[in-house]
Amino acid sequence: MKTLTELKFDNRFARLGDVFSTEVMPQPLEAPRLVVASEAAMSLLDLDPAVAEEPLFAELFSGHKLWSTAEPRAMVYSGHQFGSYNPRLGDGRGLLLGEVINDAGEQWDLHLKGAGKTPYSRMGDGRAVLRSSIREFLASEHLHALGIPSSRALCVTGSSTPVYRERPEHGAMLLRLAKSHVRFGHFEYFYYTKQHDELKQLLDHVVECHFAECFEHPEPYHSFFREVLERTAELVAHWQAYGFCHGVMNTDNMSILGITFDFGPYAFLDDFDARFICNHSDDAGRYSYENQVPIAHWNLAALAQALTPFVAVEQLREAMNLFLPIYEAAWLDLMRRRLGFRTAEDDDKALVQGLLQLMQDSAIDYTNFFRELGSNAPEQALARLRNDFIDIKAFDAWAATYRQRTEREGDDQAERQTRMHAVNPKFILRNYLAQQVIEAAEAGDYGPVREFHAVLSRPFDEQPGMERYAERPPEWGKHLEISCSS
Ligand code: AMP
Ligand code: MG
Repeated sequence: MKTLTELKFDNRFARLGDVFSTEVMPQPLEAPRLVVASEAAMSLLDLDPAVAEEPLFAELFSGHKLWSTAEPRAMVYSGHQFGSYNPRLGDGRGLLLGEVINDAGEQWDLHLKGAGKTPYSRMGDGRAVLRSSIREFLASEHLHALGIPSSRALCVTGSSTPVYRERPEHGAMLLRLAKSHVRFGHFEYFYYTKQHDELKQLLDHVVECHFAECFEHPEPYHSFFREVLERTAELVAHWQAYGFCHGVMNTDNMSILGITFDFGPYAFLDDFDARFICNHSDDAGRYSYENQVPIAHWNLAALAQALTPFVAVEQLREAMNLFLPIYEAAWLDLMRRRLGFRTAEDDDKALVQGLLQLMQDSAIDYTNFFRELGSNAPEQALARLRNDFIDIKAFDAWAATYRQRTEREGDDQAERQTRMHAVNPKFILRNYLAQQVIEAAEAGDYGPVREFHAVLSRPFDEQPGMERYAERPPEWGKHLEISCSS
């Protein structure tokens, strides 16, 4: 276990030089205080959980103090936003503080979001508000606990610094951890500015640090693209299987590591709705739940374009054609498990699609359905669940097929329940619950956000006494407009 001052930095990205990032010092927040910290994320840096209580913790994560070996830098990137190319984005309010190597030899980027203006701030103030910082914190750690690849969050620090959005709010900072902060948009920036030597330097850096096995292939860059494509397809399969809507799948928000990255107006589905749009500024529904699959493919094409100086178009095209099959296989595998199947049968896809259509038609709670399905033997579980469906005849037909399919699995209910509960969360990050803990935190009470975070860190456990966090939203909580401003 380490103290805060014992963290060791080795800043490889900073060493790439000023073409890739600019040195910027964090601008401190007034009267910093710790809102919430993740012990699980602290353990990635070997930090003793007790250090979160030290004043130094809030000072380091609010821009007041800095390790002498940290080298805060704003990265440059560009990207396609809602389909249009924006030639210059970059870290407008977040700084890569540096890279820490833990005792296991893993390297973690420390990125402080909300740290003030940078050369890439454009019209922005360089700040983040408490509301959006809490939302990113909760989602990062919850996705990880669900087994969905994500950037991580160490802590949120609140302050009295005023920040103006649709209303006056308080400034906050989030300390994000990820093995890399390189996005698809980094590659697009060097490609579209025709800096091909630098593009190659970036490519070599990313492959060396994060995809070293690709160097064993005769064509390492081709193999790298295939790997990014595979990870991205598998990531989106997880999002779809668990009802996670990212909301702003611009290419600058796509991690090169295939992890969930840059949280905005995200949502988990409450009632199943394939056309659900969580971002209320997304009028056309470009980033609706069901569009996440074709959009991930589109984004990979944008990355492929940026790699054309180094990988043959034919090879890129071939890899692109693998996206849908990889996605489908990963998604179907997850859905089979959610239904309690250990084996694969040809008709499983139709069975899953049939269920989703029924859920859509009857506005069924996407999380609770699967949890309840595993809680009792199929016959009893289905008898209970059928009351929630409007077209009972259609549900009964589906249920009969499901029961027969389950019988062919041939296991007992205890085993089935253990298996299903391990993949079907009891607790999911529902926006109406996030809203409640945010309002408490804005009023200075951090108890609720800490409790909610603790619940969401063990989403598959029963957690007696915490049942209220598993409830479907009340009417007011169903159609919350989550502001995109952050
Ligand atoms: P996002 O929508 O958070 O992914 O951000 C898109 C771009 O806008 C990135 O370049 C951000 O760094 C930048 N940005 C977002 N909010 C702010 C802000 N308040 N101040 C400065 N830049 C910002
Ligand atoms: Mg972003």
